[in-house]
Amino acid sequence: MPIYEFECTKCHHKFDCLLKVDESYAGLSCPSCGKTSPKKLVSSFRTNNWSTFLDKMEKKVSPDKFK
Ligand SMILES: [Zn+2]
Repeated sequence: MPIYEFECTKCHHKFDCLLKVDESYAGLSCPSCGKTSPKKLVSSFRTNNWSTFLDKMEKKVSPDKFK
């Protein structure tokens, strides 16, 4: 499951969010000011490691999804 990095178009706060591939990010809101439709940034290599880590965690928490 990929993690994307977003930047708020209003206050320029940057935040990471997990998204399913087919999930729209238009409804995401900035955790700082609440503005929706953040700008999607190009993810860095750091994000890949983090994503792998979260995948492992999710397999532990909800193994049914990975059968
Ligand atoms: Zn904001």
